[in-house]
Order: sequence, then C-alpha cells, then structure tokens
Amino acid sequence: MRFRPNPITALALGALFFWTAGSFAAVSLESLSESETALLKSTLKVLDPLVNERKTAGTAPLITFEELYAPLKPEQADFLDAVRRLDPAELKGSSRKLPPPSAGDTFVRLDHQRMLKEGKPTPLDPQYLPRPAFEAYQRMMEAMEQDLGKRLLVESGYRSPAYQLYLFIFYMPKHGHSIRETNRHVALPGCSEHGSPARQAIDFITPGGVNGEDRPEEFEELQEYGWLLVRAGEFGFHLSYPRSGPSAFEPWHWHWEGAQAVIARDREAKP
Ligand SMILES: [Zn+2]
Repeated sequence: MRFRPNPITALALGALFFWTAGSFAAVSLESLSESETALLKSTLKVLDPLVNERKTAGTAPLITFEELYAPLKPEQADFLDAVRRLDPAELKGSSRKLPPPSAGDTFVRLDHQRMLKEGKPTPLDPQYLPRPAFEAYQRMMEAMEQDLGKRLLVESGYRSPAYQLYLFIFYMPKHGHSIRETNRHVALPGCSEHGSPARQAIDFITPGGVNGEDRPEEFEELQEYGWLLVRAGEFGFHLSYPRSGPSAFEPWHWHWEGAQAVIARDREAKP
C-alpha cells in the first residue's frame, strides 16, 4: 500500500521535520546533553590544533568563520551554528549585539610587547587594534608616560567574531558544559567589545605582568588605574564593567568610543 498522508499526518510530519531540523537551534542552555557534549569534544579536537597553529603564527585573533568551519564535519558545523545563533536576550545576561567589523577596517599589529613573567622578560602574543583605536591608545600612553612615567600594554585587543566563537566553546568544558554559565565569563560572538571596532575593547596588563585576572583589586590598586579613571575619557576610552555595574568588575577592560569623534574630525579637516 502506498503511503498517502492525510492532512493531519502531513502536519505532524511537518512538525517533526521542523523539530529535528531545528534541534540544534535549541541547544541546551543550562547543561549540554550527552550527545552535544560529545559533539563539542570532537569539534574542539579539530579546532584546537588549527587555532594553536594560528597562535604560533600570531594571527589567531584574525581568524575568519570560513577558516574556522573549513575542517569541520557537517554536524560539527551545525553545532557551531547553534552556538553562533544563540540569542543574548534569551540568556538574560548583560550581553547584547554590537556593530560587527566592516570590510574597510584596517588593523595594526602590535609585536614586540614584553612583560615580566616570574622575573623573566616574556613576549606577549601579537595583538591587533583597529587603526583609530590604536592611535588613541598611543596618544593615551604618551600622556600616561608624561604624568606617571609608566605605560600599560595590550594583553588582548581585537578578536574576530569567529575567534570569539572558538573561545566560547573552548571555555565551555571549564564551566560545566553550561552555555549560561560560560556566558557569565565569555561573551557570545557578536556581543564582545573585543570584536567591534566601533567600540573596540582593550584588556590592559602592566609590563610587570599585573592584569587583575586572579584578583581584580590588584589592578584596581595600580596608580595606572587611578590615572585611567581621571584621564582615559579625554582619549575616548571608558571603563566597561565598573564595580557598581551588573557584570563582574573588570578594571582592566576599557573600550574606545571615539569613532564618532574621528569621523567628525576628518569631516572638519576636509576642505
Ligand atoms: Zn576584555
């Protein structure tokens, strides 16, 4: 007998199709299922060596979605897509979508940054900043040097949305395979100020290696931090996560909001 679905069966089949096709869109927020955890593990097994290679080359922060997806099997790509499509509003964190990078952005590579690690001079991984944010950072450091005789280094600057996606899944096992818990510590791709040149974030570290990661108070007590509170605004930099805010206090994370000021200045400069 040929199978001829009546309208009710057709409806049910349609619903089943959408349920299965959309099953990854509903990736579990609280705790990944066993199959999702296995998929995460197999995806990281493919991506870790790729990203490590890019780290050695100093180009990990610029990785594109095409490069990240290239070695993945379809089900691994679907899993990444599900994480990429997560709605920040649904996670009820403080994340929100930010303007993405645009084709015209140019990035300055910061090589040769050195800090002391256990008393030894150690190079930092190369970092990238969109040119206007880099220029503002340089002007700010010149002023800090004049006032304090000190400078801050860029521990983390621009991170492409694809690299942010990798970082998000990389940290999931450390946060109990919970998307919600991971999101308390790592922004979703498209929601990080590190990936939005219009609002570019910099994580600062002192040449002595103080970054506040283990103890925010250590960074908060720095003379450089006190200086930033008073003068960073002059250079377009603002503290993103103050002590009194809804997110965890991050005294090292400052974002640049000077894009509008630069556009206005360039307009004025034109004859
Ligand atoms: Zn940051």
